[in-house]
Amino acid sequence: MTYRITLVPGDGIGPEIVDSAVRVLNAVGQKYGHAFVYDTALAGGCAIDRFGEPLPDESLRKCLDSDSVLLGAVGGPKWDGLPGHLRPERALLGIRKELGLFANLRPVKLMKVLADASPLRADVAGRGVDLLIVRELTGGMYFGPRGRGRDETGENAFDTEIYSRAEIERIGRVGFKTARKRGKKLTSVDKANVLESSRLWRETMHELALEYPDIAYTDMLVDNCAMQLIRDPSQFDVIVTSNLFGDILSDEASQLTGSIGLLASASLGAGTRGMYEPIHGSAPDIAGQGVANPIATILSAAMMLNLSFGLKREADAVETAVEAVLAAGARTRDIAAGGAYVTGAEMTERIIKAL
Ligand code: NAD
Repeated sequence: MTYRITLVPGDGIGPEIVDSAVRVLNAVGQKYGHAFVYDTALAGGCAIDRFGEPLPDESLRKCLDSDSVLLGAVGGPKWDGLPGHLRPERALLGIRKELGLFANLRPVKLMKVLADASPLRADVAGRGVDLLIVRELTGGMYFGPRGRGRDETGENAFDTEIYSRAEIERIGRVGFKTARKRGKKLTSVDKANVLESSRLWRETMHELALEYPDIAYTDMLVDNCAMQLIRDPSQFDVIVTSNLFGDILSDEASQLTGSIGLLASASLGAGTRGMYEPIHGSAPDIAGQGVANPIATILSAAMMLNLSFGLKREADAVETAVEAVLAAGARTRDIAAGGAYVTGAEMTERIIKAL
């Protein structure tokens, strides 16, 4: 099979880590007889420098024409002073919106060999962390009516959380189906004791739960969930939640594994095409030094193999190779705890060898 992948390397460490993932994909292609064909699109700060806008039409077209998109990261201090509509992050929102990517999947797994890197107490880490957060990505407060006004006390501002039953159902189904492929446990996180939008969320999820009797379903309030993630993350399998709560909880959960350089993500819509990216940013502080950890991007490419191309065996092989290399003691600087470390390129080569 031939798969067309649009690469969006972006800024900072983006080009280094995307290059690593491409080398791993090519090794997978060679081993299992697949052809991956790449097209590169400029987006983010580099596109602002070249074309004066973060997401040129041509870049978006390349994404729409592909079977999937692999993104590095966008942004950096050079573009921080620009007005909102010109900021590099607009490129991400633009791609998500135009590709209809309403579900963000973020697996959080603490690898046994890296338990020391986790801030969790040893006995808590020892119980294991292997969960996946499904975050709604195109609704809620990030897209609701907003504005500024005045009253007798002075200036005020507001944002609005709006969710339709249809939006909740759509993301809820992703949660149940994802749980079905994993440990068959789903926790829906809301704030139904206070927010009307959360009450509709909970009602809708309860109705959906009747269609998935094989899934152990529970509700949890977001404040409790924030606490439980630290107290006993081993209780979770799949968590489904809104855009705002998912944004916050997924960053919290990512820290349980010790390094942001290890965590992958997928953004999916109704079809098979998705956008895959590491959860970290462009890390301008280490760009060009060769020390960026490529694993998050390599694991994002593995998610692409599994979720967009249906190549589960190949995706598992990449994950196994990453774990084997870490188990053999190779560390990039971010996970070396001050000890010896290898460059990102060397880590990539070892993963390819392990494949
Ligand atoms: P960041 O994730 O880029 O970096 C945070 C810290 O983690 C830094 O110390 C960095 O060196 C380290 N780090 C990140 N990825 C690493 C890796 N692969 N290997 C080793 N260390 C790594 O977050 P930030 O510094 O807040 O943001 C930098 C820029 O990235 C900003 O312009 C921000 O807007 C942008 N950003 C982009 C995305 C995205 O493209 N999806 C996401 C978050 C932030």
